[in-house]
Amino acid sequence: METVNVKINGISIDVPKGSTILEAARLAHIEIPTLCFLKEINEIGACRICVVEVKGARSLVASCVYPVSDGMEVYTNSPKVLASRKQTLQLILSDHDRKCLSCVRNGDCELQKLCKDLNVDDETLYEGEQNQYELDYSSAHMVRDNNKCILCRRCSAVCEHVQDVGVIGANERGFKTNISCAFEMGLGETSCVSCGQCIAVCPTGALFEKDFTDEVFEALSDPDKYVIVQTAPAVRAALGEAFGLPIGTNVQGKMVAALRRLGFDKVFDTDFAADLTIMEEATEFLDRVQNGGTLPLITSCSPGWIKYCEHYYPDMLDNLSSCKSPQQMFGAITKTYYAQKMGLNPENIFMVSVMPCTAKKFEIGRDDQNAAGVPDVDISITTRELARMIDRVGLNFLALPDEDFDDPLGRSTGAGVIFGATGGVMEAALRTAVEVLTNEELPKLDFKEVRGTEGIKTASYNVAGMDINVAVASGLKNARTLLDEVKSGKANYHFIEIMGCPGGCVNGGGQPQQPASVINTVDVRAVRAKALYDIDASMPIRKSHENPAVKQLYDDFLEKPGSHKAHELLHTTYVKRSINSL
Ligand code: SF4
Ligand code: SF4
Ligand code: SF4
Repeated sequence: METVNVKINGISIDVPKGSTILEAARLAHIEIPTLCFLKEINEIGACRICVVEVKGARSLVASCVYPVSDGMEVYTNSPKVLASRKQTLQLILSDHDRKCLSCVRNGDCELQKLCKDLNVDDETLYEGEQNQYELDYSSAHMVRDNNKCILCRRCSAVCEHVQDVGVIGANERGFKTNISCAFEMGLGETSCVSCGQCIAVCPTGALFEKDFTDEVFEALSDPDKYVIVQTAPAVRAALGEAFGLPIGTNVQGKMVAALRRLGFDKVFDTDFAADLTIMEEATEFLDRVQNGGTLPLITSCSPGWIKYCEHYYPDMLDNLSSCKSPQQMFGAITKTYYAQKMGLNPENIFMVSVMPCTAKKFEIGRDDQNAAGVPDVDISITTRELARMIDRVGLNFLALPDEDFDDPLGRSTGAGVIFGATGGVMEAALRTAVEVLTNEELPKLDFKEVRGTEGIKTASYNVAGMDINVAVASGLKNARTLLDEVKSGKANYHFIEIMGCPGGCVNGGGQPQQPASVINTVDVRAVRAKALYDIDASMPIRKSHENPAVKQLYDDFLEKPGSHKAHELLHTTYVKRSINSL
């Protein structure tokens, strides 16, 4: 690799040619602060927080976009640099709704941290007019508060370049510049898919999920309600981050203990329904292959992906699996089978889901998601909201013992838990479909070709004399690339897994936020996914069709996968939607 020699704060270092000053400084163990910079997503040098002094240059330069050259001398912390950063922050804050105490990001706000680091406070700000914006509550999943927006444009870059949706962006000019949707539409009127990836990268409290923790606490204190909680696979791999644990720490046992102490009557695992989804989806796949149904079959677990398909690929709705998502299957089974088994009135069951995902808040309100005549799921909260609930009641999360989920809907397999990572649904489905097709036990269960965080993965397997081509995409821009190949006839797949968020649910829009300094340097998705694959490897049962609780459900209630009753309770339909974007 060709290198150049630079001096950073007087220290000489060789760095790869073509590096930016920001990258070079990192190699010298110097962290230059940033605000707008997101590696490969938002490299616009706009916020001017990362400025540095370069010997010989006429003005300060934005280190995130300025390339190094041989012999360059850089100063990252000179008085001129620090004064400039401070002034930039003072200007940002002078038009900022500085209500830190009640702000959802108080304590993990990147702007707040910078102000603390650079000693910027109310006393030092510029006087003058402030913009006043109405909050946008129009979508099912999130709130936009432009009064706390610093115009870094990370959100619009992710929405457009990663998710291929592009419904938010900068409008107006100068002092009036603001992030909004086209024609003053509320976000809920656009073709936003509710993925929450914009929230995940927002450095401030300008974007946040609709918080339903008060409603959950209310249900928990209602003696007439039997309150059941289900937790998605990816939650256990990220919740610990909200309590200072390293990324990718598996906190399943403490999470269960916390939920029990919050007062839930039963603590169940969405992984059970992930196994159930595999039973239904693998059956659907085999039926389509053997009886000439629409192929490729595309998975339907990710509500962000489903909404995207409805808006942008309405001609491919027949390719979608008719299976409800695991969250919704779980609610349906709880309010029918479990209610019957326990002698409970489904109307008194209050089903709460804890999800890594904001699109789940949209999904619970979709039509046709009420198997027992009442909503399958009453409230969906994110991993972040659960962390807030735990804080609010004063639980010392780190000191909690490890506890187990309740029976029978807390029983799951390794196949269920890997649903939380891109490729996991495909691998789980293959473990079941291959054994059903061959009628033989798989010698090895790991389908490593579909693992990993690449945006698109493909593989072919010869199963019982049949070639099965599969593909896995995560992140909606990757989904578009893959679908366009399918539509043009360039690619021929039988089964496709698509997850709305890059890396799958582990990187969902409802997971604890990591600052840009981490996002830009650590593959958070891979580290969290590893936690799930480690759990899978340690499970005594790793195939969905061997889950004894799922088998019993079919024996006692559903008869068999794909039965008429299973279709009534566990399957759904989709609608064509129009495109409303910028
Ligand atoms: S966004 Fe950050 S700086 Fe602004 S009010 Fe919230 S915590 Fe404070
Ligand atoms: S939720 Fe997703 S689709 Fe909607 S604005 Fe944010 S990034 Fe874009
Ligand atoms: S909403 Fe958040 S991410 Fe978007 S521009 Fe404003 S501060 Fe940046």
